[in-house]
Amino acid sequence: MAEGAVAEGAVPEAEPAPAIPRCGCGHDRRHHMVSPEPTYTGWGKFWVMFMGVSSIPIRLDFRCRVCGQAFDFTVDPTECSALL
Ligand SMILES: [Zn+2]
Repeated sequence: MAEGAVAEGAVPEAEPAPAIPRCGCGHDRRHHMVSPEPTYTGWGKFWVMFMGVSSIPIRLDFRCRVCGQAFDFTVDPTECSALL
């Protein structure tokens, strides 16, 4: 009867699919042909561009340099700082 109501909202933001996101040619985010594209906050970008200070991005998009597809991203600060 109320099946739908239980399923929705009860599930936390845990990753439901263990499958690794891959681009059209099958590269995952760790592949050497995949580049992380950082997104900074307004101030973060200011520091990087004008002051040459490295700043931790708020988001990384993973783009394949072969097919140009952005197939994955992370907003985890730990990952963002570790991958740059
Ligand atoms: Zn690709």
